[in-house]
Amino acid sequence: MPGLLAQLCGLVLPVRCAGCGAPDEAWCASCSQQLGRVPQRCEHRAGRLDLLDGHAPAPVWCATPFVGPVRRAVSAWKDGGRADLHPVFARALVAVVVAPDVRGFLAGPDPLIVVGVPTSGAARRRRGGDLVGDLAAAVAAGLVEGGVAARRVTALRRGRDVDSTALGARARGRRLRVDVRPTVRHLLIGSRVLLVDDVLTTGATFAACRRALEEVGAQLVAGVVLASTPSPGEVVDATAGTPPGGWSAGPRAASVESWSRSHPG
Ligand SMILES: [Zn+2]
Repeated sequence: MPGLLAQLCGLVLPVRCAGCGAPDEAWCASCSQQLGRVPQRCEHRAGRLDLLDGHAPAPVWCATPFVGPVRRAVSAWKDGGRADLHPVFARALVAVVVAPDVRGFLAGPDPLIVVGVPTSGAARRRRGGDLVGDLAAAVAAGLVEGGVAARRVTALRRGRDVDSTALGARARGRRLRVDVRPTVRHLLIGSRVLLVDDVLTTGATFAACRRALEEVGAQLVAGVVLASTPSPGEVVDATAGTPPGGWSAGPRAASVESWSRSHPG
């Protein structure tokens, strides 16, 4: 029935690939190649992940660099009403966490607590739900299916947004710190946490989540994101499958502009 419904809707609102605009499919085979790569570590690209407290940032794995079709599709999913991409992104994230190296790292004696990076109330209302939270639920289910004890917990929330334009310079400075708070302290004490987000940019939000988790005695063991913003000047291949040595220059490599300045996540 959902297939018939999709066909009927397609008569009214033709579907196009969210990555390249190809007609009649939500996510085409060509764009799928960008999400079908071997998982990559990406924490070194996010300068603000390091809390400068003497502890190295937790490892963060991603499916792909945040360029090309995936970049366009994430924007369409978050702010263009393309909720139909949820299964595509959920599958890509699950593929990352059940890849042998990542799965081996995450497995442990106690259930892993899977937490989505919290979004503001305004963003949730605008998008009609907690999109990243839904991805976290899919990741937890995928881990369980892959034999890793895990469960999703809505453990963090964003603090109140403050309009910094009406504040003095010192208050504006404080505003730059992302405000994340724990919600279910008793579930977090002593737990191992996997953080889930869509895109890793500067790492400021991840760092705020780690700080909030550690305040209540939880340990952030790793993060998983769909995509990671390349470092300024880094050259990546946005279209082909996984290059053997990572994302270094290839025949179809594209220069990447810095995106992170306007996106603190
Ligand atoms: Zn496409």
